[in-house]
Amino acid sequence: MDQGVRVVKIGFIGLGIMGRPMAGHLVKAGHDVTGFDLNPVEFGGAFAGSVAEAVRDADVVITMLPADPQVEAVFPEIVAHAPQDALYIDFSTITPRTARRLAERWKRTLDAPVSGGEKGAADAVLSIMVGGAPADFEAAGPIFAAVGTTVELVGGPGSGQYVKAANQLVVGGTYALVAEAIVLMEAAGVDARAGLDVLAGGLAGSRILELKRASMLARDFRPGFRIDLHHKDMGIILDAARGAEVAIPMGALTAQLIAAARAQGHGSLDHSALLKVVEGLSR
Ligand code: NAD
Repeated sequence: MDQGVRVVKIGFIGLGIMGRPMAGHLVKAGHDVTGFDLNPVEFGGAFAGSVAEAVRDADVVITMLPADPQVEAVFPEIVAHAPQDALYIDFSTITPRTARRLAERWKRTLDAPVSGGEKGAADAVLSIMVGGAPADFEAAGPIFAAVGTTVELVGGPGSGQYVKAANQLVVGGTYALVAEAIVLMEAAGVDARAGLDVLAGGLAGSRILELKRASMLARDFRPGFRIDLHHKDMGIILDAARGAEVAIPMGALTAQLIAAARAQGHGSLDHSALLKVVEGLSR
């Protein structure tokens, strides 16, 4: 695949919330995209009847699937039917361990999880953290440019998934602490709105405080990013930490709070609904 110029044949597997708009942007960028999903969808390109059909003549094979089991189910089909020199890009959020296993079995593999959510995918402004070989990263440049704006090669196979895990760790932990701050201030009878404004302007400030403090105070937990997905990501984070042989006690605690949110029936709410769990601890 040359940088930028020629039309690339892409087999795109997984046309859900994220994959569908991403595949659409690749079509708009001029590429020849054949997609496949268990549910037929329109995305602007050709829809194939199977993984095999989607990847048969592909220069680039892409997956954007929910989690490890789906990627592991589709991958053997790719290995069996894609051209041997095809570049494989997995945009899904999965464990670094699985990402590395895939890279051992397919020569040109990049793990490339994204952040930015549904809106980031729709607007083609995703952040992409990439693990793999520099030459493959360079070759994938036009693909990444069509769907994202911040793109970084962060190391060898699995590295992108470690960075995504780190991202989700910080996001989950920050939500838990902002929730505790709200519970504390409200219980003490101080003006929590003004209090959070002060926090947002000082060293405690964060993008989460900036974007979510008003909706959290209003108990508006419409998703956004669902508790269910963050629960899956906490599993990845704990697995990654175990694989790297490090302790992440705050991550473990955050994982339990998110598990509680799910167990209490809040799986389809936004992850800021961690506030419901933290509130429940003091009632
Ligand atoms: P989704 O469930 O909307 O889409 C996944 C698609 O994969 C579905 O359309 C499903 O039918 C399809 N699929 C499942 N198994 C398949 C198979 N065997 N063959 C073909 N198709 C199959 O999920 P999503 O929200 O698009 O997320 C995809 C990935 O991106 C996940 O790993 C998620 O964690 C990550 N992610 C999501 C967001 C977000 O805000 N939704 C943000 C960043 C990262």
